[in-house]
Amino acid sequence: MTLGSHSALQILKGAKDEGFRTVLVCLKKRLSLYSRFKKLIDEMVLVDSFAEVASPEVQDKLLSLNSILIPHGSLVEYVDLEVIEKRFKVPIFGNKYILRWEADRGLKERLLREAGARTPRAYSSIDEVDGTVIVKLPGAKGGRGYFIASRPSEIRERLEALKVSEDQVFIQEYVLGVTAYAHFFYSPLSGELELIGMDRRYETNADGLGRLPASVQLEARPELSFLVVGNIPIVLRESLLEEVFRVGDGLVEASKRLVPPGFIGPFCIEGAYDGEGNFYVFEFSARIVAGTNIYIYGSPYTWLVYDEPMSMGKRIAREIKRASEEGRLEALLT
Ligand code: AMP
Repeated sequence: MTLGSHSALQILKGAKDEGFRTVLVCLKKRLSLYSRFKKLIDEMVLVDSFAEVASPEVQDKLLSLNSILIPHGSLVEYVDLEVIEKRFKVPIFGNKYILRWEADRGLKERLLREAGARTPRAYSSIDEVDGTVIVKLPGAKGGRGYFIASRPSEIRERLEALKVSEDQVFIQEYVLGVTAYAHFFYSPLSGELELIGMDRRYETNADGLGRLPASVQLEARPELSFLVVGNIPIVLRESLLEEVFRVGDGLVEASKRLVPPGFIGPFCIEGAYDGEGNFYVFEFSARIVAGTNIYIYGSPYTWLVYDEPMSMGKRIAREIKRASEEGRLEALLT
């Protein structure tokens, strides 16, 4: 079972391919979209807003269908974390307590540090800023609400105009380079970490800026947005894979210590390579990311390991199937 948004189609397809019956909690206004894919959906539960998924009626309905909820980015965005942690009766695939570590900037930085990831410098005060930084505003969503600056006076001016106080923002060194997002799957059943794919996000209008000559940019001073409109595949130089796995393994270990039982299933590390080829991690997601939608038929990395098309959605369903056959479902659910 999942919510109709983000990576729902892939999750449904993967579940179907593994022989499960599927349930989609669908917004009434999206019914016509998801009806186009009705082949993938056995039961549809219609709601006015995703927050309704936590209501006693919807929870009871989902329980009666013997559902397991597969969380994705829209669950995290539209349903209150406390509700997910305390009021959900339907079992959730993965460690629901780690979603808070994705949402909270302080916790996120701590987990990344403990994992041994190289992170961009975080500035504790505006006056320390001595290079190009990205300023992340509180409650920024969907890649909107960031700006780039390089001087303390410029940052103060912008914050004043936005009416945001200095202590509410997170100021981070801007990594000038190539962004890359690694999609991992950690299997508690096998104890192995798998690289399922990698993507880059196509972000408007940040990715459109490079088409403007510098003189026009200076004149027009466009407001920057990192709103994701789609994802594009990337395959890393093979020698760079070692560091990606080192950070992935580090996150798995650190998560077991800090948020037991640690990561279960999909998570993603999000970063950029600088001019020297150093990988800086600025974010992680503690559940499936939409960049995996590129690889519904499998990625170059899954093809190396599986002799069949393997998507993240199918990998999740495969793990649940195996756990159910081995009587170990509780190792995957919270
Ligand atoms: P996030 O919401 O943190 O995933 O960031 C949205 C986008 O902002 C990323 O996909 C990157 O394009 C960009 N970004 C965030 N942090 C940094 C950073 N420290 N250096 C360079 N780009 C960044």
